[in-house]
Amino acid sequence: MKATVFHEHGGPEVLGYEEVPTPTPGPDEALVRVHATTVNRGPDAKVREDGFGIPGFRLPHVSGADGAGEIVALGEGVTGRRVGERVAIYPLMWCGTCDFCRAGASENYCRAWRMMGMHVWGAHAEYVAMPARNLLPLPDAVSYAAAATLGVSYGTAHHGLLRQVRLQPSDTVLVMAAGSGIGAAAVQIARSVGARVLATSGAPWKRERALELGVAAAFDYRDPTWPEQVRAATDGRGADVVFDNVGAETWAQSLGCLDRGGRMLCSGNTGGWEVPLDLRGLYRNMVEIRFHMQGGMADMRALIDLIAAGEIDPVIDSSVPLSEAAAAQRRLAAQEQFGKVVLVPDSIGNAIAVAADEGRGRGQRRA
Ligand SMILES: [Zn+2]
Repeated sequence: MKATVFHEHGGPEVLGYEEVPTPTPGPDEALVRVHATTVNRGPDAKVREDGFGIPGFRLPHVSGADGAGEIVALGEGVTGRRVGERVAIYPLMWCGTCDFCRAGASENYCRAWRMMGMHVWGAHAEYVAMPARNLLPLPDAVSYAAAATLGVSYGTAHHGLLRQVRLQPSDTVLVMAAGSGIGAAAVQIARSVGARVLATSGAPWKRERALELGVAAAFDYRDPTWPEQVRAATDGRGADVVFDNVGAETWAQSLGCLDRGGRMLCSGNTGGWEVPLDLRGLYRNMVEIRFHMQGGMADMRALIDLIAAGEIDPVIDSSVPLSEAAAAQRRLAAQEQFGKVVLVPDSIGNAIAVAADEGRGRGQRRA
């Protein structure tokens, strides 16, 4: 099979599109022919750069923590799944035996968690083998491209907003960097709950896109007065929830945008991870800070239902042939995208190349 492979760490230039052995599904696994996958900063770019701190990481490697496709083979002992079935892949593998798993916690709490595309080869390939229990059947109304957005960005945003900070229709939520994959996901999920959404983005065309998604107001976080603009948009009180995955660049100001009793949410960072905290302000304001990593199977199931019902249509920036994965990763690194960049194996076809007019590529395109 063809896959996007890297043999050494480095920039996007280390990515090659090469022939590698097609995996064989082991016991309790299924082999999926990948129809769509996506690009993610952490699981893809950071793993490519330096292994992202994954214990025992080995080269060569195939990234890809999102995926949707068709089951083409089943390993020994698999029941309840069939060849030909359309599925989305839940990318986190859980042990089933640790205390969290035994207590029925969401899978992302597993002490022995491993991720497709990080601890094992991922879906930036024509085929991927995964435990059959990680596969969720897709209704016809959900495209492979839409399903490929769920494993990382949409699933994580759903888990954070609904389970970690228990977003309510009466809440005002501020989403930082609304043009990122997870930012656009958070905007749509918060809107589907009925919450009022404010957003930030550094580019005027992205703020326009955020408004089209139903955001009440969008601010430029490069303008130092943006926290005051958030205050002004919330009757001087601040937001009930702030979702900030930017990190060091914006965290101190984001915390300052919270209303009394507000909830801060974070599931990653793209702009640095060491942040000074004014504890005095936080306890006096009785702020709650929640961190999380990934979502659970239940989040992916809920999102599949929301898409099938027409409640959410995941924002797809562009759809690119898998052989152009390096260009897609560069697009993310330069923050030229709004929403998810989808990769489609060349043998599947039907991909739309990254807009030549980069930085202005807009619109929800379906693969
Ligand atoms: Zn476990």
